[in-house]
Amino acid sequence: MMRLYDTMMREKREFVPADPTRITMYVCGPTVYGRAHIGNARPAVVFDTLARLIRHEFGAKSLIYARNITDVEDKILASAEKEGVEPSVITERYERFYIEDMGALGVQPPDLAPHATQEIAEMVAMIERLIELGNAYEAEGHVLFSVPSDPDYGSLSKRDREAMIAGARVEVAPYKRDPADFVLWKPSGEGVVGWDSPWGRGRPGWHIECSAMIRAHLGETIDIHGGGIDLIFPHHENEIAQSRCAHDGAPLARYWVHNGFVDMGSEKMSKSLGNIVTPAELLEQGHRGETLRLALLSAHYRQPLSWTDEVVAQAKSTLDKLYRAAGDTEPGVPDEGVVEALRDDLNTPLALTRLIALEDAASVKASAALLGLLSSSHSEWFQGHYSLDADTGRYTFTFNKAVLTGPDGPDVETMISLRNEAKRARNFEEADRIRDALRVRGIVLEDGPSGTTWRKE
Ligand SMILES: [Zn+2]
Repeated sequence: MMRLYDTMMREKREFVPADPTRITMYVCGPTVYGRAHIGNARPAVVFDTLARLIRHEFGAKSLIYARNITDVEDKILASAEKEGVEPSVITERYERFYIEDMGALGVQPPDLAPHATQEIAEMVAMIERLIELGNAYEAEGHVLFSVPSDPDYGSLSKRDREAMIAGARVEVAPYKRDPADFVLWKPSGEGVVGWDSPWGRGRPGWHIECSAMIRAHLGETIDIHGGGIDLIFPHHENEIAQSRCAHDGAPLARYWVHNGFVDMGSEKMSKSLGNIVTPAELLEQGHRGETLRLALLSAHYRQPLSWTDEVVAQAKSTLDKLYRAAGDTEPGVPDEGVVEALRDDLNTPLALTRLIALEDAASVKASAALLGLLSSSHSEWFQGHYSLDADTGRYTFTFNKAVLTGPDGPDVETMISLRNEAKRARNFEEADRIRDALRVRGIVLEDGPSGTTWRKE
């Protein structure tokens, strides 16, 4: 039995999908106008881990996981204007970076990654339906959702009306009938990206994107809707209102799952506070993607996570232990204790404690895979990494020189087997590099009929 904390019900509930052969999960994805920071990476890693667990529990093909790309938004337009380029230059660049950065953290691509700019027709159709039903109205080229038209508005955030208006920091605009009303469509001026619509040339508001894309790709009611805790209000509240009103009261999601903030010790990490740390910087500094992933999973997903050097160092040392324990064994069966911890509202700290205590290498490897860890081989982890050249299809083994010459340098036998591997692949350049690297440490290799032996110089 799997249990998830449902923000709507404010309790941990047994997770029972509507159709266990077609489980649907949607997570609000990035607005692509800047490099993702560690706080942005947390939902990507958390929901990737949840997706792995669901596939383990219900079957490899049981889940359809969608994470959208918001590629039309005012911040993107501002960025494009600042650089003097088309908005698509900005969105394509940062989407590529996002995929690379998350990939380095072991985040598998979602099954679907709908782009807002490619779903405008669905948004327009949903807005038309909301107008027809009396839940939205047109005013001065804008279309607004009428909050008072939805008696259930506020069901997720459980805020009263005054708090909602204050929390949404809504613009008081003369065309609004009610200060809580929010934008579904807004006009685009000359030179601003826009699409033709029944209300003139314009562009969608952020909230309608998710509602329309969920409807188009997953259906009216999905199993799990996820995102950061900061999205509960107003974003998810607004998604709920739009979808429920457009779909005759059908709820948008059966479980609402939210991850906590990442903070920098005392304050929340955010672009506006200027205190962000990005995976790109950390990787550049020589940290491994798996180290960052484990650091992100070291706290329970609903708890705030303080991002400190100690957390990262601890994650690295845990991974060293796990790689030593797993060796180069083929994965066996995941440990039931680890799986049980994950089934209980994705309790990753408990799962990690149990994982570290395991003794059977094959079980360590399989259990770690559920958390998206130990994806490298023993030698890759300790000595360097393989990178694949997309053009030639060739792997190159790169040494981490610091590791090689330090006290934790790989043992000679491992180096010899790597060199043999390189020779078998006819990568003589690589084989020579390994020989030279050992020479630097005062170790001479001698190739003989019964294999390679070594001696101290
Ligand atoms: Zn959303």
